Amino acid sequence: MIIQKKYYFYAAHRNKEAGIKCGRLHGHTYDIIVHIKPEVLTNGIGILFSDIDRMIEPIIKEYDHYLILNQKDTLCEILELAGEPFIKLPFDTSAENMAIWLFTRIKNETKLPIIKIELAETKSSNVIYEIKS
Ligand SMILES: [Zn+2]
Repeated sequence: MIIQKKYYFYAAHRNKEAGIKCGRLHGHTYDIIVHIKPEVLTNGIGILFSDIDRMIEPIIKEYDHYLILNQKDTLCEILELAGEPFIKLPFDTSAENMAIWLFTRIKNETKLPIIKIELAETKSSNVIYEIKS
C-alpha cells in the first residue's frame, strides 16, 4: 500500500551550473508528490491524510514565494545588504538537489515512512528520488 500526497509551492531561483537559461533568475511552480508506505493498516487506514498534511505542509510552505539560492551565489551578499528575505541552501538548486533535500527533510523531521518523492519544475520535467525499502 502506498499513500500519495500532492503539494506545491511557488519559488524563484537560478542555477548557474545549469546553463544560460537556468542561470537567469526565474520562477517555478514546484509540484511535489510524496509517496508514503505505512507499515500497517489500522481499521483500513495507514496514516490519516490530514496527519500527513499537518506534518509535511509546514516544511513545504517554508519555501513558498521565496527566492531560493545556493549559499555560494553572489546574489546572497547583495540581498542581505538590501535586507531582502530569501533562502540559502548548501547546494545548487537543481530539481534533483531540491528533491533529495525535501525528501531528507520530510523523512528526518516527520519520521513518516516516506519512500519516494517526485518533484516537477515544469509541466514536462520532473525528477523522482526514492529509496528501496
Ligand atoms: Zn529553474
